[in-house]
Order: sequence, then structure tokens, then C-alpha cells
Amino acid sequence: ALRITDECINCDVCEPQCPNHAITMGLEIYEIEPSLCTECVGHFDEPQCQVVCPVECIVFDLDHEEDHDMLLAKYQHITATT
Ligand code: SF4
Ligand code: SF4
Repeated sequence: ALRITDECINCDVCEPQCPNHAITMGLEIYEIEPSLCTECVGHFDEPQCQVVCPVECIVFDLDHEEDHDMLLAKYQHITATT
């Protein structure tokens, strides 16, 4: 999964780009729900939120490191239950 650092300027650009609806406004800045973030595996070749973020404050979440197979399994789980 990816995470948003406190450098986020709340520009709202990333939220509509997420195919998994993993990004929401938190108490102060936008946040990514790790259980919903597939790093865009299953949808796109690269993380769409990272592509659009103007201040590059979206980074890999070292507390939620996953390989491609794990991300693909998460994608399949999400799409099966929605
Ligand atoms: Fe959503 Fe993709 Fe960003 Fe994860 S990497 S939060 S799935 S846009
Ligand atoms: Fe924050 Fe970047 Fe998303 Fe804008 S695109 S809300 S700066 S994380």
C-alpha cells in the first residue's frame, strides 16, 4: 500500500483518481486506507495517486509492504466483495 505524508496540501486531486476508493479526507490531510490500496494493481500500470500528486507526498508505506501477488489477491478480494 501507499501512504500520504504530512506534506499533503489537501489539493483534492488524488481522491477521485483512486480506482479502489482508498483515499479519503482525514482529520487534517488526506489518508489512504491500506486494506483498499492495491498500488493500482489490477487497474493501472502505476499508482495513479502518485502520478497526479503535485507535491509528491505519496510514498510506499513501509508498514504495509506487499509484493505483486499479494496486491493482485487484494484486488481480487475487493472486486469480489463490491
Ligand atoms: Fe488508490 Fe492506486 Fe493510490 Fe492505492 S496507489 S491509493 S489504489 S490510486
Ligand atoms: Fe494531498 Fe497529494 Fe492528494 Fe493533493 S494529490 S490531496 S497533495 S496527497
